[in-house]
Amino acid sequence: MLKNVSSEAAIPEVSDIIVEGGKIVDGTGFTCYHGDVEIHNGRIAKIGDLKDVRAVQRINAFGLVVAPGFIDIHTHADEEIANHPLAQNYLQQGVTTIVGGNCGDSIYPIGEKLTALEHSGLGINFAILIGHATIRKQVMGMADRVATSEEVRQMKDLLAKAMEQGAFGMSTGLYYAPGSYSKTDEVTELARVAARYGGIYASHIRDESDYNIGLVAAVKEAIEIGEKAGIPVQISHLKALGKPVWSKSAEILDLIKAARARGVDVAFDQYPYIASGTDLAGAVVPRWAQAGGEARMKERLRALSSRDKIRAEMLASIEKRGGPDKLFIATYAPDPGLEGKHLGEIGRIKGMAPVDAAIELLFSGGADVISFNMLDEDLIRMMKSPFGMIGSDGSLVRFGESVPHPRYYGTFPRILGNYVREDGLLSLEEAIRKMTSAPANRLGLSDRGLIREGMIADLTVFNPATVKDKATFEKPHQYPEGIDYVIVNGQLAVSGGEWTGIRAGRVLYRQKAQKAESRKR
Ligand SMILES: [Zn+2]
Repeated sequence: MLKNVSSEAAIPEVSDIIVEGGKIVDGTGFTCYHGDVEIHNGRIAKIGDLKDVRAVQRINAFGLVVAPGFIDIHTHADEEIANHPLAQNYLQQGVTTIVGGNCGDSIYPIGEKLTALEHSGLGINFAILIGHATIRKQVMGMADRVATSEEVRQMKDLLAKAMEQGAFGMSTGLYYAPGSYSKTDEVTELARVAARYGGIYASHIRDESDYNIGLVAAVKEAIEIGEKAGIPVQISHLKALGKPVWSKSAEILDLIKAARARGVDVAFDQYPYIASGTDLAGAVVPRWAQAGGEARMKERLRALSSRDKIRAEMLASIEKRGGPDKLFIATYAPDPGLEGKHLGEIGRIKGMAPVDAAIELLFSGGADVISFNMLDEDLIRMMKSPFGMIGSDGSLVRFGESVPHPRYYGTFPRILGNYVREDGLLSLEEAIRKMTSAPANRLGLSDRGLIREGMIADLTVFNPATVKDKATFEKPHQYPEGIDYVIVNGQLAVSGGEWTGIRAGRVLYRQKAQKAESRKR
């Protein structure tokens, strides 16, 4: 009943938008073709030669690529989306859907929070995973121990509830406290619940370096959880972090391939930068020192009995990340003047050893850090894998505030400019597939991620000759070039390269039909 009752079926409707003459890269990975795309009532109504179709608006896409809107399967936007619901730094990258709740941390309780977001009006589509650390904290705080069977039962209930409320799966952050306090069995038990609802298991694995079990064993653990729980595994921001594991990408890609060959659905996402970003405590403070939460950590840093041991382990962590001159402070609320400086420099300013400067920052509320700790060789090998997707690992930001990782502004255009056009590492069709249908399939979003008649009209129109990220580590607050039109649910969020500020986004919920189906199976 989409049509007005008074309209005659014989009179053709005037469509909303026609995107004319573009090169259609439809998201499947198959070769592009030329054609017009008609958008009406929020959906792709028709594809073909549409010269004669009347439309309210025509977009001239001659010389441009028309792709499905990009889906960012890995963000941390779920806290920030309430502050920045218009999502400009993602829309201008051509991203029309973002997934939050990653690395074990999500908003909670998600039902209420998602309803509130829906009412506030979003600029972008938003989907969420439920965080394992989030529900573990609900049940057992920051306790550094194995969960009892009663605690596991409670966590399963909370997880089931979140899945009922529309979460797309469960995420873990097994590297971070309190995720690090859990054993494989606990996570597997919980992943079984997410599997029952047709969800995925996304994991910031236990070790991306050689901090505890090592990168290779951590990838094996993720695969084991997927295999035992019968759930698709999404390894988050796959990387080989730090010298001891450099060049291990070949080995871990082989593990993923072998798991897939025996029927375990393992995939991953990555961001196109060789520097990582996290919080200072997560980067350098040993997990045992974080048990019980931030107040307890500060007590241990003060106590003579533990201070030296923590300091020694922090020193080792800083070295592992490339040394104090490779560890940059991105965000530090108490003194924004220190943002953008590395730990070595901050030590000199404060007249103390870099590690002691780090301890001082921890005492005054902590900071976000960026460290250069990866090899191009590994990044490229992973990017060539057909099982990889693109995820920014970023969040929504206020323009000009703090010094975020440039991936917040540049991830998707960087793939298209650097790795497709300049380096020729990926075909355009394959790169677009990794940003669209691959994540849509992963999430079970059956009506997004492809340019097909009947699909929801999330589209990105860009210039393949000029598309380029501009955000740098020094000056991250720069929007990319060459992303000319972005359409969210049939409405223009970026037009002629200019952001429109429209609230056309939706909260996406895991499709209930999928759950019913998987129960039948
Ligand atoms: Zn992470």
